[in-house]
Amino acid sequence: MSERKLVMATRNAGKIRELRRIIGDQISVELQSLDDFPAMPEIPETGDSFLANAGLKAHATAVHTGRLACADDSGLMVSALDGEPGVLSARYAGDAATDEENNQQLLDRLAGIEQRDAKFICACVLAVDEERLDPERFDEMASAGWWEAPEGLWMWAVEAEAKGYILESPRGTGGFGYDPLFYYPPLGKTFAEMSLEEKNRISHRGIAFRKMVDQLALLFGSDG
Ligand code: IMP
Repeated sequence: MSERKLVMATRNAGKIRELRRIIGDQISVELQSLDDFPAMPEIPETGDSFLANAGLKAHATAVHTGRLACADDSGLMVSALDGEPGVLSARYAGDAATDEENNQQLLDRLAGIEQRDAKFICACVLAVDEERLDPERFDEMASAGWWEAPEGLWMWAVEAEAKGYILESPRGTGGFGYDPLFYYPPLGKTFAEMSLEEKNRISHRGIAFRKMVDQLALLFGSDG
């Protein structure tokens, strides 16, 4: 691919910064967000899985912008609650719920339950118009898991997870969302007690984004 631009299907500047940091100086790519495409309509997250929602966002963004697009969708799944809050993670306690309200809702749902295993999941999907691709790379792309999708696009997806359990009360002040309740045994801390570097190294989003960056290197070629 000659054009080294990637549109992240988000209006969240924090995600762009996070990805910028993960890419570092590994490859040269100009990152854009949906703020660079104000006419792009809101994409409803109607899928019943993280992969489905990330796929919808990546596909719509690639079609609308004509550029290489990346979307992620993430959330928390608690075993004893049959995978709740799942795709409802951002609005577990209601549509306009704050992080504190969602955390309280989670603690209420887990009251009296001892088995508190949980995992964060991040699905990350890339989509790009076939016309932008170098046909010489099609075989290599197919081997790396890319597939041909509707409307002349090629797509690639990955899902990554971080396993831990839910504490009975919050610990730590960093991070966001469910971080203060999510205890990660290998480091003996909650996600809210970690530095951003520490969290990125082991988090669902860090792992998924790094695998996605490998695919950018494949698309852009060895001089990427
Ligand atoms: P989204 O992928 O940005 O839509 O995230 C969905 C929701 O999942 C967030 O609003 C959080 O509630 C939760 N979530 C996703 N990743 C994390 C994380 O790393 N820490 C804490 N909460 C998270």
